[in-house]
Amino acid sequence: MIRLEHVSKVYKTSTRPALDDVSVNVDKGEFVFLIGPSGSGKSTFLRLLLREEVPSKGTLVVADWNVGRLSRRRVPRLRQRIGCVFQDFRLLANKTVAENVAFALEVIGKPRHTIKKVVPEVLELVGLEGKADRMPHELSGGEQQRVAIARAFVNRPLLLLADEPTGNLDPDTSQDIMLLLERINRTGTTVLMATHDHSIVDAMRRRVVELHLGKVVRDDARGVYGVGR
Ligand code: ADP
Ligand code: ADP
Repeated sequence: MIRLEHVSKVYKTSTRPALDDVSVNVDKGEFVFLIGPSGSGKSTFLRLLLREEVPSKGTLVVADWNVGRLSRRRVPRLRQRIGCVFQDFRLLANKTVAENVAFALEVIGKPRHTIKKVVPEVLELVGLEGKADRMPHELSGGEQQRVAIARAFVNRPLLLLADEPTGNLDPDTSQDIMLLLERINRTGTTVLMATHDHSIVDAMRRRVVELHLGKVVRDDARGVYGVGR
C-alpha cells in the first residue's frame, strides 16, 4: 500500500534533511504508529504521501501511484483515496454533522441518492446516529473527532492518515477513538497514525515506526512507545 525506497526530503530553507534515506513498506490492511520527537519528520512523511510535498530523492509509491512523479492533474485522484484525520478535527463550523460528512461526497461528485444512503450508515458506524443534525460546537471533543473520522472514511479510502488524532482528547475518549480506528482498520483500510501518546501505543501493540532526525531508527511489528521495556 505504501512503499518508500531511500526517500529523502530536504526543504529549500533548511540544511538538514527532514527525511533522510527512509525505506519503509506498509502492506494493505496494516495498522502503523509513526512516532518520534518533534521535528523528527512525521508530518513530512504524511505530507509526502498526500503529495503536498515531493521527495528530493528516492521513490514513493502509494497503492498504484508513483507519488513523486504524479502529474498535477492526477493528484486529486490520489487524495480522494486517502482519508485524513487531525488533532484539531477541522470540521466545517457552519455545517451540521451530517452536512460535514455529506460535503466530502459532494465535492467528489457523488449523486444525491448515494449521499442520502451512505451518510447515515457511516454516522452509525462511528456511533453518532442520533446527532446528525447537531452543529460541531454542540458536540464534545470526542464526538467531533468521530465526525472527522466519519468524513474521512465515508468514501472508503484505501488509506487513513491520522495526525495526533487523540492529541486534544482525555484518556478515556482517546481510547474510544482508538477502538473506532481499529474498527475501520478491520474493514481493510490501512491506517497510519502519527502520535505522541505513549499509553495508546503501549496498549495496542501494533507496528511502530520510529523516526529520529529524519531517519527510521526502529520498526517493530508489535512495538511499544519506549524502547527496552
Ligand atoms: P514532526 O512532524 O515529526 O514534528 P516535521 O516533518 O514537521 O517533523 O519536521 C521535520 C524537519 O523539517 C524539522 O526540522 C522541521 O523544522 C523541518 N520542516 C518541516 N516543514 C518544513 C518546511 N515547510 N520548510 C522548511 N523546513 C521544514
Ligand atoms: P465531554 O465530557 O465528553 O466533553 P460534554 O460534556 O461536552 O462531553 O458533552 C456531553 C453531551 O452533551 C454530548 O453528547 C454533547 O453532544 C452534548 N452537548 C455538549 N455541548 C452541547 C451544546 N452546546 N448544545 C447541545 N448539546 C451539547
